[in-house]
Amino acid sequence: MSTTWHILGAGSLGTLWATRLARAGLPVKLILRDAARLASYQAADGLTLVEHGVAHTYPVLGETPDSPEPIHRLLVACKAYDAQSAVAHLQSRLAPGVELILLQNGLGSQDAVAAQYPQARCIFASSTEGAFRDGDWRVVFAGHGYTWLGDASHPTAPVWLDDLRAAGIPHEWSSDILTRLWRKLALNCAINPLTVLYQCRNGGLQAHQCEVATLCAELTELLQCCGQPAAAQDLQTEVERVIQATAANYSSMYQDVASARRTEISYLLSYACQAAARHRLTLPHLQQVYTRLVDQLVARGLPRD
Ligand code: NAP
Repeated sequence: MSTTWHILGAGSLGTLWATRLARAGLPVKLILRDAARLASYQAADGLTLVEHGVAHTYPVLGETPDSPEPIHRLLVACKAYDAQSAVAHLQSRLAPGVELILLQNGLGSQDAVAAQYPQARCIFASSTEGAFRDGDWRVVFAGHGYTWLGDASHPTAPVWLDDLRAAGIPHEWSSDILTRLWRKLALNCAINPLTVLYQCRNGGLQAHQCEVATLCAELTELLQCCGQPAAAQDLQTEVERVIQATAANYSSMYQDVASARRTEISYLLSYACQAAARHRLTLPHLQQVYTRLVDQLVARGLPRD
């Protein structure tokens, strides 16, 4: 009997994983915030995934955090700022040796969860898949991509990668997951805040090449100082390539701000600035972009963290 995939957070990525695992016949349970969210979920027929314009609904079982069943494998699919407290609600249910798969963007939230549960095996993920909610319990699969998974303290791949294969979730076990997460964080810091400050699509940054180049130089210095030289390699070239390849897209931070949603700034640009401070590294442009971004968030009535 396969181990149940408990999925914490039935948002975009949580639904994308839950529906594909359930479609492959694997045991999946959704953990919803509270009884009210569970009642709302039960009033729907299940989770709906819209793929290539076609909607399919999967009757995945839902439960609240206080359900009694022990958890052996937990996919944490909340936003970075919710991950630690959401997992804390499940503390009494986490079986010894539980596996926590952390899908959060940026850095900082994974270490916070890992520090709280030294008995757990924490697997970090970095994904280029894209999805968004277009209704309650309904998610559109917007961008096919890849998910890299890794465990910096334990290089052996878990056996459940077979479940991902069966579910058609494109993935790779990565021996350098921290390099991937740092690289993605640096790309995000060089692009996303500027798209908010200039209120533009990614391609709009082609008009701000000097500023992008200056940020890339500071981020390269930071990555090298943080022991991530591989993540620093040719950063500016890749940032320019991403800006060009995604010119028509709005960045995730732009979309969060435009929809008046809290951003994940604390795990992205703010994390980078704090890492610089820890290393006594002066990165004036990065710091200035951070200050301008916070001003912009506050002016819009959004949380500064
Ligand atoms: P999302 O759509 O906002 O989903 C987050 C879900 O977590 C929501 O359903 C929310 O519940 C739930 N949640 C929060 N606190 C909870 C709690 N205490 N108990 C149970 N559920 C709780 O977020 P997302 O877009 O999937 O993003 C998740 C992470 O993946 C982020 O770090 C994001 O940056 C990263 N990521 C996302 C994408 C993407 O395309 N979406 C791509 C790559 C990486 P409610 O529904 O009740 O609010």
